[in-house]
Amino acid sequence: MVEKKDTVPLSFWEIQKKQQRASLFLFLMLFVFYFLTIGLVSAAILMTAGAFLASFTFFASSFFYKYTAIVFGIALVLTIINFIQARKSGVSYILKNLRACSPDPEDRYHLSFLNILEEMKISSGLLGLRGYIIPTVNLNSLSLIGQDGLPAIVVTEGLLAEASRDELQAVVAHETAHILKGDTFFLTLSCSIVAFYQQLIDSLDEERDLSQSDLKHPRRGRGSAQPLIYLASFFSYLLLNFFVALISQKREILADATAVELSRDPMALARVIYKAHVANSFLGDSSLFTPLFLVPPDSRDIQETPRDKLFNTHPPVMLRLKTLADMAHKNVKEVMEEVRAQEEQREKSRLLYSSLEDSSPDYQEKLRELQLRAREDLEKNSIWLARNARGQWDGPLALGSLVTLPYFTPATRIKNIKENLEGPARNFPQVRFALYRQLKKQPLDPATQNKCPTCRTELTEAFYEGVRIKKCQACQGKLVAMADLEKIFARRELAFPDWLKQKALAYREALLNPDLKPPVLKEKPPAICPECGLQFTLRPFSYHYLMPVYKCYPCQRIWFEDQELEILQILVENRSRNHSPASRT
Ligand SMILES: [Zn+2]
Ligand SMILES: [Zn+2]
Repeated sequence: MVEKKDTVPLSFWEIQKKQQRASLFLFLMLFVFYFLTIGLVSAAILMTAGAFLASFTFFASSFFYKYTAIVFGIALVLTIINFIQARKSGVSYILKNLRACSPDPEDRYHLSFLNILEEMKISSGLLGLRGYIIPTVNLNSLSLIGQDGLPAIVVTEGLLAEASRDELQAVVAHETAHILKGDTFFLTLSCSIVAFYQQLIDSLDEERDLSQSDLKHPRRGRGSAQPLIYLASFFSYLLLNFFVALISQKREILADATAVELSRDPMALARVIYKAHVANSFLGDSSLFTPLFLVPPDSRDIQETPRDKLFNTHPPVMLRLKTLADMAHKNVKEVMEEVRAQEEQREKSRLLYSSLEDSSPDYQEKLRELQLRAREDLEKNSIWLARNARGQWDGPLALGSLVTLPYFTPATRIKNIKENLEGPARNFPQVRFALYRQLKKQPLDPATQNKCPTCRTELTEAFYEGVRIKKCQACQGKLVAMADLEKIFARRELAFPDWLKQKALAYREALLNPDLKPPVLKEKPPAICPECGLQFTLRPFSYHYLMPVYKCYPCQRIWFEDQELEILQILVENRSRNHSPASRT
């Protein structure tokens, strides 16, 4: 890069000075906001009072000065509190609200993002550049200035999965442009200031949750906090609109231009903006941080009407695309065409998923034998009975199932049917040892550790769409961390055969129709977690996808039997392709 100099227009000191000016400006604006709101509201109240009290006149000079001084004082105090709070905890609140986490260098996609950040740090002359990732399949990005003054770029898993390397570079360049121009500092602070009231509402909500024990009446305990919540919502709404008016829509176009200076690839930026625009770009449930994003969360629904033009935080996407395409001497149609061609290429390069259903009958026979033996093994070890609250014996249970019983304590009365012994659980050395190991976060029973819950084959470490998982090579079962699922749903490396797609659709139909039961809905026997040795809980995968799967909450892992994860992937992919606003929840 020969002309590097003109892309790095600001020295460290210049940036600092610019930030100080922005802080001062926002502080004054916040003060003006409070002074006006408090002044107008209280004046309205006092003037109505004046209409009833003959002796009271609002504009009597002695009263008016005192009144102005009081409003000034209150506005100043509120400004200082709000401002300090925003500087102190604003950024961490935004990150927490967006569920952003640090990239994992072991993950191929995350590593590529980290490498691009490193390159950008060097070519832009920034002192540091942190990365965060939001675990969602939706496409978006933003930049922030952290508490320590270091800038950070945040991208979603969906963006990492959908953008090619040059497009990801273009996104990072766009966000870096915002950082260099000082937009990021200004916007982070504005959003932190607005978030103050959201934080207040959240803490009031939390208090309410704690104070109410009766879950059946979730709306009950609201009473005392309600007026405060309304007031806080009112202020946050006013503040948001006040600050949005200060933010120029032009900054996006300017950042796009600077990004092109940094990455030299206007078409890559145009393609990724178009992708984010047509995909689902929704992030979190808060509209407070909208000005920060690459594309607004509801990009698809924005019309080019005068009203939308006036109240939007972002310029129309078509205008941005046209500006970028012009730089490459191309037009918007060509941008769309490139995206379509790329998509086609990608679909062709997906690896075809292979299943046990394709394997030989001999192999399937052997597998069934293994599964049967695993079942027998578990039954052989199920030598424990436990007495429940009604005085009846539950069981026989394996040790891992015994200690996961909801009513189990060391005082629970249990029975060992093999040795025919009965007593409180703490009297049995096996149980004491198991509880001790559990306390030490060691696997409960070393014999089941790292063994496939379905067929008892030793599990192996494997990568599935760039995510580290544990896999059974015999039955194709997969142990996946709950935190990694959004990555798998976002990435499209595997192609699924038509028969499996059909099966997934039939499965969804079956969930809607209780009379139909496909084989995947079969009753599942108890199984033991290969990590901790406790019994898995059999639960629906999620509220949207009711497939029953084995979950281990202490380990935060899910055990998927063959085809289960793939069927979920097909269903999620179908759903995120469906461009209806209803799919956003
Ligand atoms: Zn297995
Ligand atoms: Zn576990």
